[in-house]
Amino acid sequence: MSQLSVTRAAQSRIHLVDFDKLGFGPVFSDHMFCMDYADGAWGPPAVVPYGPVPIAPGVASLHYGQMVFDGLKAFWGADGNVRVFRPEANARRLEDSCARLCIPPMPREMFMEAIRQLVALDHAWIPRQPGQSLYIRPLIIGAEEHLDVRPSSRYRFFMITAPVGSYFKNTAAGVSLHVEHEYTRAAPGGLGFAKTAANYAAALFPTTKSRREGADQVLWLDGAEHRFVEEVGAMNIFFKIGGQVLTPPLEGTILPGVTRDSVITLLADKELAVQQRRLAIDEVVQAFREGKVEEVFGAGTAAVVSPVRQMTYRGETLAIRGTVPGPLTSALYDEITGIQSGRLPDRHGWNMLVPVPAQQARPLSRAR
Ligand SMILES: *Cc1c(COP(=O)(O)O)cnc(C)c1O
Repeated sequence: MSQLSVTRAAQSRIHLVDFDKLGFGPVFSDHMFCMDYADGAWGPPAVVPYGPVPIAPGVASLHYGQMVFDGLKAFWGADGNVRVFRPEANARRLEDSCARLCIPPMPREMFMEAIRQLVALDHAWIPRQPGQSLYIRPLIIGAEEHLDVRPSSRYRFFMITAPVGSYFKNTAAGVSLHVEHEYTRAAPGGLGFAKTAANYAAALFPTTKSRREGADQVLWLDGAEHRFVEEVGAMNIFFKIGGQVLTPPLEGTILPGVTRDSVITLLADKELAVQQRRLAIDEVVQAFREGKVEEVFGAGTAAVVSPVRQMTYRGETLAIRGTVPGPLTSALYDEITGIQSGRLPDRHGWNMLVPVPAQQARPLSRAR
């Protein structure tokens, strides 16, 4: 593998950022990682200042969507260490997405090295307040200019990072879900399990429509019958019904979330087996009507866990009767964020520590 080159930004933009008012991704850190694929090989790798790159309008990924991405986070620990949560799992998933989209996977060690370099170089951009983090976004796009529909012979890999706020703060009171029985996110045999643009493009119209009608997010049903629960826009879904925790199985149409896997593993540690099985929406509605639905939550990197307050299905409002967030949802949030921040032991070896240069003190909030 060729040597990684680093070109530093002439000037940092960090003083422009208000770390007390971070959203999700409008601000990107000083540097990005880039690597091209040509003539059958990836390389050379480079870290360069974040900024626009020239892209020819004839590049086929802009027309036909041959692209994949992923998403993970780096955290400052209370102990002064920087941790990246489960990067190997994201590397594996990106490889699976690549395979489905006919994109050559990038070497896994280079993926990990890109994260280490970028996080170390822009460590000052990792926010320090509870719930905040540095979001890491790898993406690969087809980069060959052609108009016929076929896999590209050239690719560009980017990794960019963004300081992000605590999503949970906004969703702690619980989100409302519109159960979509008309539109489809993913169909059997399609792209549902891949983190690729087309899935999100398919979701835009129905999501916008349901927002206008008052719901926060869409709960997708299966594409064949609109009968079985699948997932939320960018989160996997869990139900606690009559003491049993349930989530839909990974059968190719839903995204295999790293947070989903973490939740299942942590519950197994407590000898709470999660039932992964097809869950008919009628069964969920019936359980709501009987008052048996104790908790519902979404699981994803952005929010960790996001408690659901109510769902609407064909005009019927189904509300959680107990407190929101429920005790299980809260416990999982505390446990996952505890592992990410080093507050709790990392029993499964999920964290990758990134050595960062000795700390100069940076004020928590921007001086005004
Ligand atoms: C990214 C994503 C998730 C959550 O995956 P995590 O690895 O937990 O972040 C769930 N569903 C969709 C559609 C996603 O894009």
